[in-house]
Amino acid sequence: MSDNVYALLASGFPSDRASPCFLIGERTISYGALETGAARLAALLIRRGVNPGDRVAVQAPKSPESVMLYLAVLMAGAVYLPLNTAYTAHEVRYFLDDAEPALFVADAVPLAREAEALAPLAAPVERAADDLAAIVYTSGTTGRSKGAMINHRNMAANAVALHRAWGFRPGDVLLHALPIFHIHGLFVALHTALLNGSPMLWHAKFDADAVLADLPRATVMMGVPTFYTRLLEHPGLGRAQAEPMRLFVCGSAPLLESTFEAFAARTGHRILERYGMSEAGIITSNPLDGERIAGSVGYPLPGVEVRTDRAGGIEIRGESVFSGYWRMPEKTREEFTSDGFFKTGDVGRQDPDGRLWISGRAKDLIISGGFNVYPKEIELVLDVLPGVTESAVIAVPHPDFGEAVVAVIAGRGEESAVIDAARERLAGFKAPKRVFFVDDLPRNAMGKVQKAVLRAEYAGVFDPVAMHGAQGPESPRR
Ligand code: AMP
Repeated sequence: MSDNVYALLASGFPSDRASPCFLIGERTISYGALETGAARLAALLIRRGVNPGDRVAVQAPKSPESVMLYLAVLMAGAVYLPLNTAYTAHEVRYFLDDAEPALFVADAVPLAREAEALAPLAAPVERAADDLAAIVYTSGTTGRSKGAMINHRNMAANAVALHRAWGFRPGDVLLHALPIFHIHGLFVALHTALLNGSPMLWHAKFDADAVLADLPRATVMMGVPTFYTRLLEHPGLGRAQAEPMRLFVCGSAPLLESTFEAFAARTGHRILERYGMSEAGIITSNPLDGERIAGSVGYPLPGVEVRTDRAGGIEIRGESVFSGYWRMPEKTREEFTSDGFFKTGDVGRQDPDGRLWISGRAKDLIISGGFNVYPKEIELVLDVLPGVTESAVIAVPHPDFGEAVVAVIAGRGEESAVIDAARERLAGFKAPKRVFFVDDLPRNAMGKVQKAVLRAEYAGVFDPVAMHGAQGPESPRR
């Protein structure tokens, strides 16, 4: 039997193919139209010479046609390569050189039109579970971007596990406002909805007004933390809008406890936070039934083993975990343990019952004067200070300490008051040596705070040359 994941997804399509798949304002696109559109596009890909195993790179606006194209690539047995729509031509060049796709698509709509003249492909091309289905380049902030090779088994395992874990049921309607160049919108949200044969309230991008207006028609929403903070800033958010909803899911970046609490107070809903990554889909999730705790990412999904090494490094193994990095055998070997666990690069701790708490990325660890400082521990202290919306704690080169702890705070306040408050609650070496206030922290498309950007921006703060210059900052506090 073919293990093409398309067949699994299609097994969830409603038997009445006239049922809605995309709801876009007043416009409806049925499951039948999705299926036929995908099968025609698959025929077109094959006619254009795309063979099984070939890569198809896509940097296209979010549209129903781009979903059809994604499914068409799977049907044709090719390998889908999603690219962030914000990438410049210069950045895209790297991915094209690295992945050598047979086809690059900049917009799925004209391709779908062209495919209308063709007979739909009768059945998905046979694939084995180990065959590649996608290459997802990680949003790594340092070094070369790596292509995580995701096979049909990986995708299928995660889709089935999530569908079950989050209790998808008849009548569910998913509000889809995530980008589909990233696994959150592409695999997690899309696969669960398709597997459930659910309609999707389809938003080309997140807009708080539009999302709020659609909320009363939805039962499930998936978002990044920024979605929730933006909804909270909207005066229209209240219990009434969220009434028919049964589940709000959050991930891709840490959800602040303050956001979790504020959302619960305003809507009566406790956001379900989960943890995942391009290399493995979703790894852990707070429970659907059972306690959702702010600050914890919950329990390993069935089929995923999670453990931490002595330094707190999170390691994972299971059917949804990728098989390696594209054309990087060395890097792949380095990132897997001898017993087959992938080293995620995240640091955390696990309760005896398996519940996971993430404290940050290993590369964000600060070593100041020989002491290890975990930014999350300091951020938790700073985040509750008056005037602080959110904080990011980073390492900055320091002539004495090697690295110094520096806090960048979204909000308003006094540097000395923040340092004093941190010193009251934390060992002296953990307290920030400098504090900077900004309007907003820099984030990428998935709402992740870009610490590398901050590290670059504040790199010269303790530079002795800069310190002696007229504009240089004052001496660091000891
Ligand atoms: P990406 O591969 O772009 O999806 O990024 C994956 C990374 O996002 C993970 O390795 C984590 O560092 C981070 N991440 C995802 N979900 C969460 C979460 N709920 N809490 C904290 N970090 C998260």
